[in-house]
Amino acid sequence: MPNMDPRKTAMPVQDPAVRRRNFEEVAKGYTEEMALVEAQRCLQCKNRPCVSGCPVGVRIPDFIERVAARDYEGAYDIIASSNSLPAVCGRVCPQENQCEQKCVRGIKGESVGIGRLERFVADWHMEHASSAPAAPEKNGHRVAVIGAGPAGLTCAGGLARRGFDVTIFEAFHRAGGVLVYGIPEFRLPKAIVEKEVDGLRALGVQIETDMVIGRVLSIDELFERGFEAVFVGSGAGLPSFMGIEGEGLLGVYSANEFLTRVNLMKAYRDDYDTPIRPGKSVAVVGGGNVAMDAARCAMRLGAETVRIVYRRSEEEIPARREEIHHAKEEGVEFVMLTAPTRILGDEKGFVQGMECVRMELGEPDSSGRRRPVPVEGSAFTLDCDSVIMAIGTSPNPLLRMTTPGLAANRRGCIVVDERMATEKAKVYAGGDAVTGAATVILAMGAGKTAAEAIAGALLGPEA
Ligand code: FAD
Ligand code: SF4
Ligand code: SF4
Repeated sequence: MPNMDPRKTAMPVQDPAVRRRNFEEVAKGYTEEMALVEAQRCLQCKNRPCVSGCPVGVRIPDFIERVAARDYEGAYDIIASSNSLPAVCGRVCPQENQCEQKCVRGIKGESVGIGRLERFVADWHMEHASSAPAAPEKNGHRVAVIGAGPAGLTCAGGLARRGFDVTIFEAFHRAGGVLVYGIPEFRLPKAIVEKEVDGLRALGVQIETDMVIGRVLSIDELFERGFEAVFVGSGAGLPSFMGIEGEGLLGVYSANEFLTRVNLMKAYRDDYDTPIRPGKSVAVVGGGNVAMDAARCAMRLGAETVRIVYRRSEEEIPARREEIHHAKEEGVEFVMLTAPTRILGDEKGFVQGMECVRMELGEPDSSGRRRPVPVEGSAFTLDCDSVIMAIGTSPNPLLRMTTPGLAANRRGCIVVDERMATEKAKVYAGGDAVTGAATVILAMGAGKTAAEAIAGALLGPEA
């Protein structure tokens, strides 16, 4: 008999009053007992609606059935056959808009906790699996991958499993892309990403860090060095600013810089070279997940007041509900229907406050959301000594500018066909570099498709 409890088995979390000042993981994960209770909530639907909600088609009912049978390694094998980063996806996939949105248990209650079960299985595997898979025999073909984010890592893994000799060129000193430089430790411990990357190394993938392609080597030079195809998974890491006065003041950060210094450079540790100390009062401009991550990091770095400043209302805010809830629990304040017009500085060039204007919602714009319009005479000054701009990113133009024949659209995203092939021969691309800022699982899906296409192009029908 299935467990007909309408609510998901609760996830144990760190106490908000404690976690707001530490970087340890917020959600602690299911115990075996909790996972078994939750697995019993799955009805094993014949038409498997949940699978259609997963961009990489994880066989959800099959792995949950294995969990219920306490065969956790069997469950892991099922997940890993379509998802190469399950411990990551179980933590950061926006499941409520994907697999869990389609789950029939969501009609009269809460959906099955698919992401939580996926995380349980992946963590169980990491703790108990005794050996890494052996590297397959090489097929003699060499492929270069640019960028070690989820798109590049997935493409590299897909090719290495088919015997290709794969080298990833990564601009930073660590592999992982946004998983290591953007998403904070308290949502995704870096040791987990490291283990997933180690799995790829065990398959024979080589990772060359501190290699900015387009500067150190061009794509054409990679071909001259014997690579037969190139996959571009360089992400969308170029931050946007509002273009308002005062953005050059000391204490104004892009969310990318702020999060990179906190996560990748460990700026919160006193023994690191690049400390970052937000002031007492931090304003984060934007309402997406990146804004929530920046605000929660600022709180952990010791700020007394952290405010999210967003020009629409809370109803339109794009961040995940769970992230908003966690941010509020940790004391982040939400200043809605407000837009900055100028950042104010003191005589030494440090941020002193932010001039803002109140907004109201007008007619829907091209995105279908109601357009925010300024309320006349509503200007006021928001007290703050740091400002973090989290209003979006776009692909860095470096590769486009240094690669003749690599076409991009007007948003700067590389143009590809359905097989992820660009307009330049033997060059493929995927992930945020193609879509603009999106999700981990979509980037992985693109990397997987590209690996299949590259294998087909280099090996022919035998692939
Ligand atoms: P990236 O992860 O950006 O990786 C690209 C890599 O390429 C980087 O390592 C970069 O250094 C490298 N690179 C760039 N240019 C070059 C070059 N010229 N030469 C060599 N290397 C280069 N998605 C979710 O699904 N869930 C979340 O909770 C979530 N939270 C997020 C939080 C933040 C703060 C951010 C910024 C994003 C978040 N996302 C989330 C989005 C998600 O992380 C991205 O969609 C995903 O990482 C895109 O993967 P990618 O491989 O295309 O690019
Ligand atoms: Fe759901 Fe993401 Fe796992 Fe797919 S990969 S089943 S969308 S959590
Ligand atoms: Fe189980 Fe929900 Fe999928 Fe049905 S839709 S098989 S209940 S996870």
